[in-house]
Amino acid sequence: MDHYVYDFRNGGRELAGLLGGKGANLAEMVRLGLPVPPGFIVTTEACRTFLTTSEEPAGLAAEVSRHLTALETTAGRRLGQADDPLLVSVRSGARFSMPGMMETVLDIGLNDDSVLGLAEVSGSERFAWDSYRRLVQMYGSTVMGVGQALFDEAMTSLRKARDAPDDLHLDASDLARLVETYKRLIRDGTGRDFPQSPAEQLRQAILAVFRSWNAERARLYRRREHIPDDLGTAVTVQRMVFGNLGPDSGSGVAFTRDPATGRPGLYGDYLPNAQGEDVVSGARNAVPLAELERLDPRSYRRLRDHAQTLERHYRDLCDIEFTVERGTLWMLQTRVGKRTAEAAFAIAAELVDEGLIGADEGLARVSGDGLARLMFPRFDATAVGDPIAHGVPASPGAAVGAAVFDSAEAARRAAAGEKVVLVREETTPDDLPGMVAAQAVLTGRGGKTSHAAVVARGMGKVCVCGAQDITVDAEARRFTARDGTVVEEGTVISVEGSAGAVYLGAVPLVASATMRSLEGGEQDGSVVAAVRRALEHADAVRRLEVRANADTPQDAARARRFGAQGIGLCRTEHMFLGERRELVEDMILARTDAERDRALAALLPLQRKDFAGLLEVMDGLPVTIRLLDPPLHEFLPDRIALAVRVAVAEATGRPPDAHDVELLGAVNRMHEENPMLGLRGVRLGLVVPGLVAMQVRAIAEAVVERTRAGASPRAEIMVPLVGAVEELRLAREEVERVLAEVGAETGVPVRCPVGTMIELPRAALTAGRIAKEAEFFSFGTNDLTQTTWGFSRDDVEAAFFPAYLDKGVFPTSPFETLDPEGVGRLVRIAVEEGRAARPDLQTGVCGEHGGDPESIHFFHTAGLDYVSCSPFRVPVARLEAGRAAL
Ligand code: ADP
Ligand code: MG
Ligand code: MG
Repeated sequence: MDHYVYDFRNGGRELAGLLGGKGANLAEMVRLGLPVPPGFIVTTEACRTFLTTSEEPAGLAAEVSRHLTALETTAGRRLGQADDPLLVSVRSGARFSMPGMMETVLDIGLNDDSVLGLAEVSGSERFAWDSYRRLVQMYGSTVMGVGQALFDEAMTSLRKARDAPDDLHLDASDLARLVETYKRLIRDGTGRDFPQSPAEQLRQAILAVFRSWNAERARLYRRREHIPDDLGTAVTVQRMVFGNLGPDSGSGVAFTRDPATGRPGLYGDYLPNAQGEDVVSGARNAVPLAELERLDPRSYRRLRDHAQTLERHYRDLCDIEFTVERGTLWMLQTRVGKRTAEAAFAIAAELVDEGLIGADEGLARVSGDGLARLMFPRFDATAVGDPIAHGVPASPGAAVGAAVFDSAEAARRAAAGEKVVLVREETTPDDLPGMVAAQAVLTGRGGKTSHAAVVARGMGKVCVCGAQDITVDAEARRFTARDGTVVEEGTVISVEGSAGAVYLGAVPLVASATMRSLEGGEQDGSVVAAVRRALEHADAVRRLEVRANADTPQDAARARRFGAQGIGLCRTEHMFLGERRELVEDMILARTDAERDRALAALLPLQRKDFAGLLEVMDGLPVTIRLLDPPLHEFLPDRIALAVRVAVAEATGRPPDAHDVELLGAVNRMHEENPMLGLRGVRLGLVVPGLVAMQVRAIAEAVVERTRAGASPRAEIMVPLVGAVEELRLAREEVERVLAEVGAETGVPVRCPVGTMIELPRAALTAGRIAKEAEFFSFGTNDLTQTTWGFSRDDVEAAFFPAYLDKGVFPTSPFETLDPEGVGRLVRIAVEEGRAARPDLQTGVCGEHGGDPESIHFFHTAGLDYVSCSPFRVPVARLEAGRAAL
């Protein structure tokens, strides 16, 4: 067996890493007996070798030539043979699908001689020259680096001169002239000629595909999709079949189900008399597959049968690229297809019902990110006026933004914080940065399988494409709707991707059906039912409990409706704001113990009421209440504003307000250069007398109140920012003293577990000792990330994370997805040593990471008992906790 080259007959989908997804799946289709033009695959390993050494791997040329000879023998003709040329395509294909990001060259083997032979044997001069112009153009741009736009311009001006609405209206001599023009563009642009040697064409095309792995847009795509940069692409060399041989030929794209809704049944676009990318590029408008059924029922039936074979074999929705050559159907590509979140849930539920997959597999096929998308708001139907345009509903959701007409402008405005909608006649892979930056994509041409649609669905972006009611004038930076509305760049428009509608202005948003169903239990529609089924299964298999971060009875009630099993973090600081501010100021400014006690006493009943409300809503479930965490000066007015006020008063000769002066003194006294590392958390409790006692008393009295009402309150008291066990021991003594006091006063014994946040590296590293004083640990991963990396969480994300992400220091912000190696290691140490010291120690997490899918999988493996996240993330966390347990 060769080292770098596999024949299709020796491959299979299990070799995707080596053969790329495209090559491996072609081999798999051969295995299934489907009609695939023969060919061979150069491995990703050859590509990696080439990219690291910048040299063609030794022996590769010989292997390729051996496999080519085999291909020629079966075909009975040689590559580029003058009187009857064998032609091949050279196709990129990485392990993970990167649609349109790398290069493919078709019709390799044509030259000035063989084009005549091809015309002769096929009986169509037009076809031969059409194929040749395609080769010269693709080779010129991909291999020789001539700008694609130059070729497009030449095509456009020829079409204008010939008054041809599209390329089909150009005849053989037009196309022959185009070949001459293209060759001249290559010569002018590179100083070299388009190579006439078929062997040279093949060799250079393979190397160009290798190089396309590192094309700018491919790198950007990988970064966004978290695909490693060092995998390399495989190269598939395959005998050409021809969809451009006349009206009984054509090319198409199909899905085994509708990728937007999940509805079963063959779905796709077809373009008669076309080759390769014509369907997706939008060069001509494709027709629905139903048209193929009319034109060529036999090929349609075969396609439908093959689609079914593939779906049963892959047990999933597949997408398919195919070509019909004079009534014969050829399969050119398949893979498990991208789909919308809605379709993912619908398809998973249906495949489970059909018995193709089990409930676990069904759960594995959906995702928390997808669920979050389904929970996004939709346009308010009552506030929606008439759309200014309709198009193909290519990727669902609702988005509002300023219309922009090129990728660079989209990226520029988005970087400045503006929401934009990218409007293009059609998109190409070069538009990727703009699509990433935009809220939605709107195109004038192309169907559900166009580039814009496929990429947008993959990214979960709203997309309406093929909106024939609009005329896009990218140069003038505006589009005109059929009703005459002119939308200039910067005008706000609203795009609805489920209905395919475009509105002028900003349409207000309302809750989605999924959101309403999850919150209120109302059930309408199959997607909502599919979501509920996935969640039910997740609940049945997950080990992690899911709690919510909530500080108000309203938030807590919502969290409970979403399925929260408790409150993992109640932040008490909001209870110190609003009209209570004055009391808090009094407490901070108190000059004597008596003054401070008075202020605290005034705060006590308010706090008690807060806690009683929460405990009532969460009756029977744990409510973890964190003692006051932020530095006290956060509750005083802004230092600069205050200083200015005092200075202004002084300057105008009036005596400044005495209260202002007093406040300013206090603010100045308490000012810290690094408040995040300053007097906060447990430190505050240890140095401000009476503060902890007041909060604990409020909790205890609330518990008593609820107990007397016959309820089952389960308050837990959490001490923040502990770094040393001594801190916790001191705080805990105070907590227990007050609990006992309230118990004695009321005759109702109050039992509240006392635990601590683990949010400093020192706490994690001394967890064994801290656990002696803590009944539970709750990982405050926001602070733990901040203190482990030394990143100020309030500053770094804007300051330099974009550059860090760009340079690949990390694939996502560690504040978004838990850093498993550093912060995660501390979590593991703390869990392990904490449990060793106290086997029944409860462990959870209450940072932002508690709602992040990837982080949830980490917490599952690390053995935590629960995650806690914002109420809206609770369903997402339930789903991901279930998936983590599979
Ligand atoms: P991409 O990864 O961008 O989809 P492909 O390698 O799939 O690129 O090629 C694009 C299109 O070119 C295919 O969808 C198919 O229509 C056409 N194509 C590729 N190889 C052949 C071939 N051997 N015969 C006919 N058409 C081909
Ligand atoms: Mg393809
Ligand atoms: Mg914290």
